This record gives sequence, C-alpha cells and structure tokens, in this order.
Amino acid sequence: MSGAPKFCVECGGRLAVVREEGRTRRRCRRCGWTLYGNPVPAAVALITRGGRLLLTRRARPPYAGTWDLPGGFLEAGERPEACVRRELREELAMGIRQARLVDFALDRYGPKGFPVLTMVSTAGNPVPGDRVSRAAAVRAALGQRQVTPGSGR
Ligand SMILES: [Zn+2]
Repeated sequence: MSGAPKFCVECGGRLAVVREEGRTRRRCRRCGWTLYGNPVPAAVALITRGGRLLLTRRARPPYAGTWDLPGGFLEAGERPEACVRRELREELAMGIRQARLVDFALDRYGPKGFPVLTMVSTAGNPVPGDRVSRAAAVRAALGQRQVTPGSGR
C-alpha cells in the first residue's frame, strides 16, 4: 500500500495499518473508517483491423509516452459502454456504432499505483484527435502480454 493515503477522509485522523481477513488495510484510529483499497473501475476498447490492435501513446502525465489501449476511468453512474464511447470521442475524436463488453482485467495504475478493474469492450474505426501524441495499429499482443490503462508495460 505504498502511496496510500495517511489520513482519514471522514475526520482527518491518522490511519493505522491493520491486518484483517488476511489483508493489509488502513484504518482511522479516531473514527474507525477503513481504506479497503478497492479497485477503481475503468473501461478500454479493443479496436482491431486485419489482425492489428489500436494502441494510443499517452501525450500527458502520468506515464506520458507510454502505450495504452484507448479508454479511461468511469465517471459516477456511467456504464462501461458509455465510458468507452466518451473516452474514444475525447481521445480519438472517434464515434462508434457499438461497444460490446468482452472481458475484465485486474491491474494497477502504474507499477505502485492503486488497483484498477478494467472492463474490456470491442469497438469500431479510429480517427486520431489531439489528446494522444500518436495512434498506431500494432499486431495484437493480447494473450502474449497484459495491456491495461496506465501500466506502461
Ligand atoms: Zn476518521
């Protein structure tokens, strides 16, 4: 839990590291609020053409210059398919006819970052916009290595 908050979001009290149910958590000494470290939901799109997979190169921090599947974090109340549509519009100025949920992936946002639960969908034709420095189709690498948002791997 490196980089985890040290203070309670409810009362501002200092969090103590505790062991519970075989896991390490942080708990407020003052009010008992517990940081469970639940994964943050994200959604990405698999856009393939001719056996090649579209990846985007991050133009901005964090992890500028690293390669990602197009996508991002869900807003409150947003369904994964709607998140994929919004992110593709924002990142690639791309509209899609449909997004279909096909799988889930567990990862972290960067090597020591918070846990992420990524919902993986399939979607349609990319047109690069200004939020990515470069968009390129590369041979589909899924199955050979894990590719999830922000991992840079
Ligand atoms: Zn507290």
